[in-house]
Formats: sequence, C-alpha cells, structure tokens
Amino acid sequence: MEKIYVTKAALPPMEEYIEEIKSIWDSHWLTNMGEKHNTLETQLKDYLGVPNISLFVNGHMALELAIQAMNLTGEVITTPFTFASTTHAIIRNGLTPVFCDINPDNYTIDVDKIEQLITNKTTAIIPVHVYGNICDIERINEIAHTYNLKVIYDAAHAFGIKYKGIGIGNFGDASMFSFHATKVFHTIEGGAVSFKNTEVGEKLYKLKNFGIKNAESVDGVGANGKMNEFEAAMGICNLRHINEQIENRRIRVEYYNKRLENIPGLQLCKKQEDVKSNYSYYPVLIDATKCGLKRDELFDKLAEHGINTRKYFYPLTNSYECFNGMFDINQTPTALRISNQVLTLPLYSDMPFESLEKICDIIISSCKS
Ligand SMILES: *Cc1c(COP(=O)(O)O)cnc(C)c1O
Repeated sequence: MEKIYVTKAALPPMEEYIEEIKSIWDSHWLTNMGEKHNTLETQLKDYLGVPNISLFVNGHMALELAIQAMNLTGEVITTPFTFASTTHAIIRNGLTPVFCDINPDNYTIDVDKIEQLITNKTTAIIPVHVYGNICDIERINEIAHTYNLKVIYDAAHAFGIKYKGIGIGNFGDASMFSFHATKVFHTIEGGAVSFKNTEVGEKLYKLKNFGIKNAESVDGVGANGKMNEFEAAMGICNLRHINEQIENRRIRVEYYNKRLENIPGLQLCKKQEDVKSNYSYYPVLIDATKCGLKRDELFDKLAEHGINTRKYFYPLTNSYECFNGMFDINQTPTALRISNQVLTLPLYSDMPFESLEKICDIIISSCKS
C-alpha cells in the first residue's frame, strides 16, 4: 500500500539548484550575509511587498529575536492554538503568555476577548495567522493603538498572503515567516521577520550576529541566527516556482471543498473576504455527534489506509507538560474544543488527484456509518 503523507517538501529541479550554488565554489563564501542571502532578501521584499525584511536560520529564532528586539516586559497576549514555537518564544524571552481564546470560524485570536485580558503589565499582542487564515488585523491594530501595545504576528503559515491587496507582513510592528521544509515556501530551514521600523532592523541584525557592532565592539548579547548560502540558494530557486505551486494547491483545496462541503458534522474553513490565500493547510473539524465518529477514529481509519494526517494543533500549548499546569486550559474553551476536533488532511502542490479522491472517499463513507 502506497503511503500518503500529510505534506511533501517542494524541491526545484536538481539541475536548477546545482546551477544556483555553483558560484559558491568561486567565492568560498558559505554564510554570514553572503551574495545569495542578500539576493534572496531583496527578492522576498519584493514578493511579500514589505519595506524591510531580515532573514534567519529558522522561523523560531526569527520570532524569538523579533520579540527580543521590541524590549518587552511583563505580559503578552497570545493564543494556545498554535505550534510550540509561538509560546516558547514568549517564555524564552522571560515574558508571561496570557492566553486568549480563538474564534470558532477561522481559529485565530478572538478579538472580542483581548481587551478583558489587558492589565497594566501587558506590553504586546502576539497573534497567529492560523493555516493561512488571517487574524482580524484591523481590530488588533485598533486595540494596540488604544492601549499602546506592540503587535508581532506569527505569520509562519501566511507566506505570500495579501489582505486587500497588501502583503500580510505589513501589519503590526513585525511579522515572522517560517521557511521550514514543510511550509508553502522553504529554504530547507529558515525564516524571516518583516518589520516597520528600521531601528528594529538594526537590532535584529545584531541579535542574529552575536551582538557584534563592528570588528572591535560587541555591545549586545546576541544569538547566532544567520541563514547560510545553501539555504538562501534553495530559497531563490523555490521562489521561481512559488506562484505555480500556490495555484496547484488552490486547485487541490477546491477539490476537497467540493467533495466535503456538505458532509454532516464536517466543518471546513470558510473563505475569508478580501484575502488572497496561500492554501497552506487543509484542516477539517469533526463533530462526532453529527458525523458518527470521533476525530481520533477518523485519524485511525485513514492511517489504516496508509493516509497520514495530523492533529494540528493538538494538544494546545497551554496544556504542555513542560508548563506543569501553570495555565488553565478551560480559560480557552473554544481552542480546547477545536483542538479535540481538528484533523489536517494531506496537501501539497503536486499531490496526485487519485490520492485526494481516495481520502475523500474514505472520509465520506466513514462519516455516514
Ligand atoms: C513552523 C512554525 C513555526 C516555527 O518555524 P520554524 O521555521 O520551524 O522554526 C512557528 N509558528 C508556527 C505557527 C509554525 O507553524
């Protein structure tokens, strides 16, 4: 039985990558903001339509250092319906995450519940654009303005998304993109921060390079977050194919939508107004009372047929054992319900239609029984 994986990392034609890395053998410049790095930075600024961008070794480091660059203290409002990285980046900066619930339609932060969580210790909001669904950026912007809070978006899922024609990385004080192998656009491992204020850019540059100011002066306690030339070269190649890949994802999402839209007990993501999506994930919610089977039962059933799905995001980050019960998961009841119902189905740009058909057939027949 052939396995169907939940995702498959995109690769450019091998010859294209080899052609791209050849010049590295001339320069012997392998890392430290080399030519490939700088080329990719310029190309991404253009593609994402953002004024400033800084490349990183991975998305998590990008987020951790973006938070550090904002000089925050005290409490940060965020959501637990995310990957470990978001919450860890906050805590590793010595800040306290305050968990806000999510809205049941698109799984991003519930903007009606943010203000009640703001205290005199709150300094920022770190919302997540989940699965390529974007947050209510206009409301978040208003709240941040009223209470003088910084906003840093976890935009790991949001590469290339536009809202009203504007690149998603233009909202808030900064946005983090992940270029991990499993993401829509990747550099094997990698990430970036887009930001408004050029002072933040100077801080980020130093933070990713040990706090080095110049050859004889180190005036900050930095980390090492630099993207190397081989990763940047992979990014340059992948960027040439990204529009075609997003279009291929769109076609596959539409296939899923068509076949799964009227199944009782199955909730799909709604299309968001004014948003040009990147079709990065295909999550479904399974309501066992209407569907006749639980999320975990559908997970097992698909696995029996060699189909690999993910309970993404389950468990919630505020229930991780590393936090020793420090947070109360009942404070975020919608996130809790959704994390128990969600199943992310396989999706990648060259996914065969026979695989899509097989997955839909199994889901449809399982939900009726
Ligand atoms: C992938 C991901 C990250 C971390 O990115 P890496 O590049 O893997 O370090 C952070 N947040 C979310 C929501 C992610 O999906």
